[in-house]
Amino acid sequence: MAMPSLKLKTFYERSPIAVQNLMSSVFGVIKRLDERGPLFRKIFRELEETQWWDRERLRALQIERLRNILRFAQEHVPFYGKSFAEYGVSWRQVSSMEDVRKFPMVTKEDLRSRRQELIPDVAPDSRVLRMSTSGTTGSPIEVLFTHRTLVAERAWVVRHRTWGGYDPRKWRGTFGGYRIVPIQQNEPPFWRFNVPWRQIHFSTLHMSARNLRFYAEALRRYRVEYLDGYPSTLYLMARYLLNNGQTIPMRAVFTGSEPVTEVYREAMEKAFACKVFDFYSMTEKVAGAGECEQHNGYHVCMEHVVVEVAPLGPESEYGKDIAGEVVGTSLVNTAMPLIRYRLGDVAAAAPAACACGRGLELIGQVTSRLRDIIVCPDGRHVSACSLTHPFKPIHSIEESQLIQETLTDVIVRIVRRPNYTKADERRLEEGLRERLGPDVRLHFEYVEKIPRTATGKFAAVISKVSTELWGPSEHSTAGQ
Ligand SMILES: [Zn+2]
Repeated sequence: MAMPSLKLKTFYERSPIAVQNLMSSVFGVIKRLDERGPLFRKIFRELEETQWWDRERLRALQIERLRNILRFAQEHVPFYGKSFAEYGVSWRQVSSMEDVRKFPMVTKEDLRSRRQELIPDVAPDSRVLRMSTSGTTGSPIEVLFTHRTLVAERAWVVRHRTWGGYDPRKWRGTFGGYRIVPIQQNEPPFWRFNVPWRQIHFSTLHMSARNLRFYAEALRRYRVEYLDGYPSTLYLMARYLLNNGQTIPMRAVFTGSEPVTEVYREAMEKAFACKVFDFYSMTEKVAGAGECEQHNGYHVCMEHVVVEVAPLGPESEYGKDIAGEVVGTSLVNTAMPLIRYRLGDVAAAAPAACACGRGLELIGQVTSRLRDIIVCPDGRHVSACSLTHPFKPIHSIEESQLIQETLTDVIVRIVRRPNYTKADERRLEEGLRERLGPDVRLHFEYVEKIPRTATGKFAAVISKVSTELWGPSEHSTAGQ
């Protein structure tokens, strides 16, 4: 549960389960009022309609909005004022997608080192929120958003669920990053109810072979018909069922935040006897794309973003299935406009068209954010996604990496910034311990730099421990 304060979090953790369920539901109502209000309904209605527009009409809308954001950036954001002038480009020259390619790209490093220059000199059109992204090198970067941007993203996700035939009156099981069940709890229920949303949050921090039996029972008992969450955690659930010769049929599985490997998808589709509908998005909210019922690439949310797939270089190096790096532009976020922002994700070649009839253009699947999973001594599996959370509030870290050497030993490699203190280490240790449990020994190693993998990629989490749930070959695939 994303709790607003430490005090409330402590209260939540010490409360009886019934109170936690109530709090989870009340929080659901607050969230609903905030994220599903009139603005949401307006944007969602628009998205429901525009998805059926033909490509040209959508493109015209996209270019009009792109010109607006480029103009805003050029006139009000110092970073772009300078860089557009340097490149000799202006919003006035933009009348097609080709014109956009003349504009400079923005890197995560720009966002980190020139953050102040990316903030506009005028007040944004709605209230501003802050969120941290873990960045390419495991060091957090804070991004500013307008409330409208956040609401728009919710609308993309809800529209995407309609593509999978989602019925909000039926129960949905969520395997996300919320810490809803205290780590010290070792008996079921490992889930909490958000009644107004017909949603059950399952803890992704208690997934051991022993506990997964209870998860499976709960999915059946509460007649869960849809699942959503990280592919790696839903995969664990699926793997458990298949290993025990079971299936629990669902109507659809919605995944996001991590790439869905073929191994993941196959296991989920078998165990849950339905299709997986993946959605690609990220904290920066500069790109959003999802699979429709045809499962033919990912439809881009052209109404709110521009997504380009930029060539990576010599094809042979990456294999013929890789089209390039995903570069995204938000057409909505005026709190910190990100224009041609390099995401560091790699997408496969895009299919030309989709038989579903939606005019939204397509990109191929994003294949390169493969992350690893840490196995705890008590048998729980914790994905890299959950483990990046403790790093996010700490801004005195240049780079970080977790390496699980043995079942009980995890090395925390850190490249410090000058303002790093002992208190940061304690905070980090606490955050990791909350997720990994008391039996893991954390070894802090302060290094000058963190080596990249053979292919030049950065691995935030490397686990050298394989388990009964992960076959050895699958485990090595997941670690790439
Ligand atoms: Zn389609």
